[in-house]
Amino acid sequence: MPSWLALYYDEPLEIVRGEGRHVWDASGRRYLDFFGGILTTMTAHALPEVTKAVSEQAGRILHTSTLYLDRNMVELAERVAASSGIPDARVFFTTSGTEANDTALLLATARRRSNQVLAMRNSYHGRSFSTVGITGNSAWSPTSLSPLQTLYVHGAVRTRGPYAHLSDADFIAASVRDLEDMLGQAHGTVAALIAEPVQGVGGFTAPPDGLYAAFREVLDRHGILWISDEVQTGWGRTGDHFWGWQAHAGNGPPDLLTFAKGLGNGMSVGGVVARAEVMNCLDANSISTFGGSPVTAAAALANLRYLLDHDLQGNARRVGALLAERLRAVAAALPVVREVRGRGLMIGVELASPRAAARALETAREQGLLIGRGGRAGDALRIAPPLSLTDDEAGEGAAMLERALRAVDAEEA
Ligand code: PLP
Repeated sequence: MPSWLALYYDEPLEIVRGEGRHVWDASGRRYLDFFGGILTTMTAHALPEVTKAVSEQAGRILHTSTLYLDRNMVELAERVAASSGIPDARVFFTTSGTEANDTALLLATARRRSNQVLAMRNSYHGRSFSTVGITGNSAWSPTSLSPLQTLYVHGAVRTRGPYAHLSDADFIAASVRDLEDMLGQAHGTVAALIAEPVQGVGGFTAPPDGLYAAFREVLDRHGILWISDEVQTGWGRTGDHFWGWQAHAGNGPPDLLTFAKGLGNGMSVGGVVARAEVMNCLDANSISTFGGSPVTAAAALANLRYLLDHDLQGNARRVGALLAERLRAVAAALPVVREVRGRGLMIGVELASPRAAARALETAREQGLLIGRGGRAGDALRIAPPLSLTDDEAGEGAAMLERALRAVDAEEA
């Protein structure tokens, strides 16, 4: 097995089937899926509506080229644009989150004629040359040779870092001062600030609501574009809002918004939304051969309809609150758990060490529960089930996680 092949478990896990919030491995064992394929399974595994839309479209035509019109793609673009909150919005489809962010950076740097960008400490935006080059955690970047010059701003991580002891209002004020300091250090024009409303790979850490609205005021003064990376936070996952940026809406929507992961419920579709004047500043490189292809657009449309018809955002808010409350009670009794945090069905559980987090992944698997891992040093567990999670499943998963964490706590004691 090559060392660069990232496998989560000591013994590789082969998943062969899924249904609802459960998956089955090759030996027939069932697991409750609290990671939703790294947040790609947004509604449910094997959702009949999505399966039907995919097979019907596949029976008609798989793909031609995005040079030709496809009804699914047009309707999807209209729905995504309308939901984004960005005025006079245009959508460009891609096949991944990385490519979506790459495109957003391309648009912003072209628009502003500058290769300087601001990113948040501990951020992750993908694995292309530009996106890996701007990540705010050096452990996730094998290169420092980014084509972009990046200045890193504090303010993404609420409970750790230099401003952890401050109230929300003072935290925001300190972060704004930091942003202004960074801009003072910049030579010439800065193109954009790119930020995840809730950091994903960073371990589901959320800044105080309103932080990016406060940033926006400063950015506007300098003409800097705000890119909201919603690859993990879109489609209601954070419960209170459809988009993560809406928790920071005081000064209007972002200039650009990127999405991927959950939209296709497992089919690869991502994209960028931007005001027409920003989107239209590129008149070359305007084709993504597979971006928004008929089959992925059909899946995405069916998935989005289901999500809205069944108010899965409301479910994420309600069941997410139940689950977080239950996990906070577990945390209070176990020294190995440092913190439970997050928004909606994006719950981070920070443990005492990366080793404890690695063990928790294994012990949860033994219990029949799949979870994710992340955080600045790999010390956090990430819980992000499909948004249709039921109360019973939340309880069942919390009980399995509690047993897993108790075992780790005993090992670490
Ligand atoms: N942006 C964020 C916030 C992400 O979490 C990720 C992936 O984890 C990406 C971008 C990259 O997306 P992809 O893996 O689809 O290229």
